[in-house]
Amino acid sequence: MTRVFQGNDPVEPYLLRDWLARNGVAVQLRGASLLGVVGGIPIPKSFPTLWVPEYQKLDAERLIAQFSGPALVHPEWECKQCGEINAPSFGSCWNCQAEAP
Ligand SMILES: [Zn+2]
Repeated sequence: MTRVFQGNDPVEPYLLRDWLARNGVAVQLRGASLLGVVGGIPIPKSFPTLWVPEYQKLDAERLIAQFSGPALVHPEWECKQCGEINAPSFGSCWNCQAEAP
């Protein structure tokens, strides 16, 4: 296994892990240990890192580059059929049920 990503916040590594997994990368998230919980808010000791098999390193790096580009800046997608803006989690348009691009 080889490390392809060091998180800068506690959330992004999880999003990225799901993104890589959806694209067929056997990704592992490590180092998600928490220092403790203060007032209901978990305090991360260190942010998680992502690891992939050596042979998938290039694929993973390419996907990470895509992910940290437009995917994070504009997570919503615009329906090609009716022009509605949809949340990134929607697989089809909430308005006209057209497939997400
Ligand atoms: Zn639509």
